[in-house]
Amino acid sequence: MKKNNKKTPQANKHLFEIETYKPGKAKIGNKKAIKLSSNENALGSSKLAIKAYNEHASNLMIYPDGSCAELREALAKKYNLDQNKIVCGAGSDEIIALLTSAFAQHNDEIIYSEYGFLMYPISAAKIGAKAIKVKEKNLRTDINAVIAAVTKRTKIIFIANPNNPTGSYLTKEEIDKLIQNVPSNILIVLDHAYEEFVETNDYPNAIDLVNKNENVVMTRTFSKIHGLASLRLGWSYSSLYVADILNKIRGPFNVSGPAQFAAIESLKDNEFFNDSKSHNKKWLKFFFDEIKNLTHIKAHPSVANFILLDFGNESKCQLANIKFLEHSIILREMNSYSLPNCLRLSIGKDNENLQVLAILKELENEF
Ligand code: PMP
Repeated sequence: MKKNNKKTPQANKHLFEIETYKPGKAKIGNKKAIKLSSNENALGSSKLAIKAYNEHASNLMIYPDGSCAELREALAKKYNLDQNKIVCGAGSDEIIALLTSAFAQHNDEIIYSEYGFLMYPISAAKIGAKAIKVKEKNLRTDINAVIAAVTKRTKIIFIANPNNPTGSYLTKEEIDKLIQNVPSNILIVLDHAYEEFVETNDYPNAIDLVNKNENVVMTRTFSKIHGLASLRLGWSYSSLYVADILNKIRGPFNVSGPAQFAAIESLKDNEFFNDSKSHNKKWLKFFFDEIKNLTHIKAHPSVANFILLDFGNESKCQLANIKFLEHSIILREMNSYSLPNCLRLSIGKDNENLQVLAILKELENEF
């Protein structure tokens, strides 16, 4: 073939529509900052997990177990699951992307909620599928509207429960209604990244729902309560049919060895797990009790490890953001979620939370 030096490789056109995911800021220039922008675990990680990670350092030349057999066995034992229905991924982000590419194609539709997690529309855009955004009511997923949005082209419905960034959750009754009113050829993905923090009695049991419904998938992560975000490890529990497909299309060694060993140990560390849970419970209550007394700042109800703070309007929100940054505290800006009046605050360590409250009180006086 004749050489034409003017031509350059062209990526698929639909990829240019993707709005690149903007993670929470990690730094303010070169200054050390308090990062409360990515819903990480305020208490760090399990000591058992760190030990296992360090012990793996002399084995870095060896490929990991591509099937994550030991980890799946540990998960299966802990939650009473069939290990063949578990698939592990490099974060639940990877599982979300794999599910989308396996069950939807160009011009198909996926449904997600107005303020739902942004990786859902991004994974749809990657394969040229349409992401249908369904309006929320009071920053909660509206199940009736989700059911009404289903068309012949709908292939997947993504529900984050609790949802990031709003912190709101859907009840068992609402999820049951969704499953009962959606054709069974549509995949329903219940993203339970923050499940472990939820304390309410009416929260759905996603494992039961997967066991009873072939079209329901649950996704979970080690990034939140297990505090292993940097290792990138998530997993799904689904029918064997879905698990087999995911295993066909995932990378052969998609989860690193250190991640697998650390996660296995983390699952054994009930003390770290319970400490993380009670720390979160204590500080969520603290913030809600305190913010209730403020008139210019509202805290949206949350059952997760973060709170969506509403400053009433965009300019006050910007002032708040600047003030937090001046104190070297990073909260998550919400413009990419079309919530310009809001900042999302992840629950931090004791002293960090006290500093945040002091700043909120200062802002209240200034507004
Ligand atoms: N789902 C939700 C709702 C999330 O908030 C996040 C993390 N921001 C994820 C999935 C992805 O988590 P990871 O890839 O770290 O498992």
